[in-house]
Amino acid sequence: MDVSLDRDRCVGAGMCALTAPEVFDQDPEDGRVLLLTRRPPDPHRPAVHEAALLCPAGAISVLGRPVADDTSA
Ligand code: SF4
Repeated sequence: MDVSLDRDRCVGAGMCALTAPEVFDQDPEDGRVLLLTRRPPDPHRPAVHEAALLCPAGAISVLGRPVADDTSA
């Protein structure tokens, strides 16, 4: 799994930080997303996928195979 962000699209809704707080945070200056780790460990992967789905701005991209098939980490 490899996570990337488009901070220019982020509207600071905060769903990502609520859904996967080990991976996403919000910039205290402008409220936009901050990525805490680009390659989250296995236990955080479902939450990262959920955060990407919930993001209203489509700012989160997740690359990599589904959890059960991902042996690339
Ligand atoms: S959910 Fe999307 S729009 Fe909201 S803070 Fe996270 S990346 Fe930004």
